[in-house]
Amino acid sequence: MQSARPAWLARIALVLLLALLCGTTVAIWWQLEQHQTQRLQERVDAQARALAQQLESRLDEQLQDLRILGALWNHRGRLPRDEWDLYVRFCLEGFSGYQSIQWLDSDLRMRWLLPVQGNEAARNFQLQPEHPNYAMAMEVKGSGQPRFSGSFALLQGGRGVILYTPLYIRNPQGERVFDGFLQGVFRVERLMDELLGRLGSRSFNVRLVERGEPIYRHEIDEWRPRLQQEVPLRLLDNPHFTLQLSPTASLLERLDSPLPRLVLGGGLAISLLLVAALALALENTRRAAALQAGNRRLNQEIDRRQVVEQVLRDSRERLQLVVDLTDTSPDGLFIIDPQSRDILHMNRATYASLGYSAEEFGRLLKEDPESLLPGFDGWLRQLREAQRDEDPGTLIQREMRRNDGSRQAAEINAQLVEVNGHEYLIGISRDNSERLQLEAQLQRLSQQDGLTGLYNRRYFDRQLHSEWRRLSRLGKPLALLMLDIDHFKAYNDALGHLAGDDALRRVGDVLQQCMQREGDAACRYGGEEFALILTDTDQDGAEHVAERVHQLIAELNLSHPGSPLGRLSISIGLATADPSHDQDPQVLVERSDQALYQAKHAGRNRSCNWKEPAAG
Ligand code: GH3
Ligand code: MG
Ligand code: MG
Repeated sequence: MQSARPAWLARIALVLLLALLCGTTVAIWWQLEQHQTQRLQERVDAQARALAQQLESRLDEQLQDLRILGALWNHRGRLPRDEWDLYVRFCLEGFSGYQSIQWLDSDLRMRWLLPVQGNEAARNFQLQPEHPNYAMAMEVKGSGQPRFSGSFALLQGGRGVILYTPLYIRNPQGERVFDGFLQGVFRVERLMDELLGRLGSRSFNVRLVERGEPIYRHEIDEWRPRLQQEVPLRLLDNPHFTLQLSPTASLLERLDSPLPRLVLGGGLAISLLLVAALALALENTRRAAALQAGNRRLNQEIDRRQVVEQVLRDSRERLQLVVDLTDTSPDGLFIIDPQSRDILHMNRATYASLGYSAEEFGRLLKEDPESLLPGFDGWLRQLREAQRDEDPGTLIQREMRRNDGSRQAAEINAQLVEVNGHEYLIGISRDNSERLQLEAQLQRLSQQDGLTGLYNRRYFDRQLHSEWRRLSRLGKPLALLMLDIDHFKAYNDALGHLAGDDALRRVGDVLQQCMQREGDAACRYGGEEFALILTDTDQDGAEHVAERVHQLIAELNLSHPGSPLGRLSISIGLATADPSHDQDPQVLVERSDQALYQAKHAGRNRSCNWKEPAAG
């Protein structure tokens, strides 16, 4: 937009310049043309005047003979006829413009006339007062000066003029008396043709006008009213003739100068060429500027691309570094398309830790993901739910199948991400079997009694409650045996604490041997007291276990110097409950505790069942 305005301004300036140059050229042409026309007018005018003068002097020359004849008459008196004839013939031969030469006597009657042929009609002519020339003739007679008549219709036909020359003779008294007129009669057309013909002029179209009326035309080509000239043609003293002259094409051609047209054509052409050259120069400048701008943009683009390429190189190098680093990682790192299960990236650990090649792993994931990750679809669903709950980076514990068919624990931290409208699954999988084992061990330790290896009191409480809940759902019985070593204080006292500890361990081993069902638990309840949780076991079952405990303890045959029995024995309190009916597990503990008390009270080394105390 910024360059468009100067371009328009330049174009408008060029148009204005062109208009100015053309205007100037036209003005100069107009001046020259005016000047030329003026000069032409002047030259045509001069030529016309020259022509008129030539005509006048030519006529004057031709009339010289007639004038001499008149002068001779006036000097010598009336000439003899033969002499007159001779002289007149001489005149007629000298100038063919004559229609006739004639003498009218003092009565104004035709006396002599030559040539007779062609002028027969005028032979008996007498100038009457009603004749158009009569008044003029009388004036000539009075003045004695020859004079041309106006034009009139000749008796011989056609239009003519007559040169009246008054003739005088001396009477016997020596007085000068009028002796008629010597008349040179001219047919207008012939006279003019003759005069013009003798001049040989082809410069003008000629019209002879008398008192505004054209009486003769000699037109060679087109009449040009614009250049028409009017010059008086003085036929002696007759002021009524005017020559109208219009220059012929040949005269105009001679007088015409091509300069104005050359100036006009040349000026316009130069203006156009100049403006066109300027326009071209401007266009070139504009194109050069556009080219420069284009080059600048191109250079900027090249710079930008170089920067982008450098950034790309850097990021590619960084990416390669990351890929190399991830390949050294013991954790599997992968990016897959969850829909098509195409792998976008995975590091070496992803497939190598399971014993696959990259190709095998990729193929299996694509064709049979369940064989790699049992429950693959469920896992994906779980991921999506976690994503919906805005729980990023969900850690899911799974098992993956190795190439040899064995299973490997895998802790997978995965996330679904959307990039450019496409969903990707980014995950890190880790073989955490070792950690799981450690955790399990820790778990075990946290619920184990350190001395005997049996479950501890904390585990007892938890297990009792959980079994209580489970069996209450199943509607099955739960039995609890509370065990206490007899006279153990005395045992310690007699054999020492270490021996006491050892005895506790051995009793623990015995109790462990008596556990049969899943859910059964042998626990160290505290000090030298133990508890056996017997799941889905009724009173008979519990008694049976108690018997077996007594039997095995007896088989241990641990010497107990502080006991009346002489060997280590235990007392057992036994209680059973129906969790679906009874209130809570604490009741069972209390009951078995009471039963144990009874066993002690009854003499030790025995088992007692809890019985409902007798009413009252
Ligand atoms: P009774 O037959 O009435 O149970 O007699 P008793 O001596 O066993 O009675 P009491 O419960 O009062 O004594 C328990 C003794 O157990 C006291 C204590 O010295 C001993 N004892 C408790 N815990 C340990 C232990 O971890 N190691 C050893 N060596 N002795 C323990
Ligand atoms: Mg005790
Ligand atoms: Mg005891």
